[in-house]
Amino acid sequence: LRTTPALLYLDAVSVSFDGFKALNGLSLTIAPGEMRAIIGPNGAGKTTMMDVITGKTRPDEGEVLFDGSHDLTALDEASIAVLGIGRKFQKPTVFDSHTVEDNLRLALAGDRRARTAVAWRETAAARERMSSILETIRLTAARSRLAGNLSHGQKQWLEIGMLLAQDPKLLLVDEPVAGMTDAETHQTAELLRTINVEKTVVVVEHDMTFVRALGVKVTVLHEGRVLAEGSIDQVSENERVVEVYLGR
Ligand code: ADP
Repeated sequence: LRTTPALLYLDAVSVSFDGFKALNGLSLTIAPGEMRAIIGPNGAGKTTMMDVITGKTRPDEGEVLFDGSHDLTALDEASIAVLGIGRKFQKPTVFDSHTVEDNLRLALAGDRRARTAVAWRETAAARERMSSILETIRLTAARSRLAGNLSHGQKQWLEIGMLLAQDPKLLLVDEPVAGMTDAETHQTAELLRTINVEKTVVVVEHDMTFVRALGVKVTVLHEGRVLAEGSIDQVSENERVVEVYLGR
């Protein structure tokens, strides 16, 4: 049995589509409590990497370990979600005709820990949890509004809140600030930093201003593997990274 002190450990992961290697020996280590930004030009393999971590795509080669010794390559999507990996897709899937609070209620009722108890009820603890999530996602004042009436940015935050309701150990976030205003982008960086106090976070993002504002370690993917790692300043001064971005 292989074990790792990392929360997430990818070793030499490869994925081929009709002979084309979308991932080509990708190795990546995410420590517990870390927040990491993943960047890279179109086609670098970022989406495929997320698909491998969440069990949507099975790698042809390599190892993916989570939280000690769980081999994710042997598990399906549902089992991986139960282990504690939540993924936020770019497009929000909140219920427009429900209020913010009712959307969160639905997500909280699906909490795997609550399900082992009787059912989610409006207990003091549940209300406390609701308030805490609303606070984190900056929607306390909007709690009674219909989700359909929220701004694009607020919908994205609600979606993040619904993932938090599942209490994941690792939160994967796909291009959270795409389409957001500058103010929302700035607030999203703060929101993710708040979440990162309790949770490990991996963010895939194109927006460099946002990645800079996050202020975390950056991994640059290119051609299905890691091209560079370091602070945003370190990777943006890296000659190979400059070449890849200018050569697009
Ligand atoms: P990124 O998210 O960084 O833009 P992707 O992981 O989406 O990169 O894609 C990596 C490469 O793999 C791209 O060249 C893409 O065309 C290819 N690819 C991704 N998924 C498939 C698929 N299901 N079938 C064929 N090719 C794919």
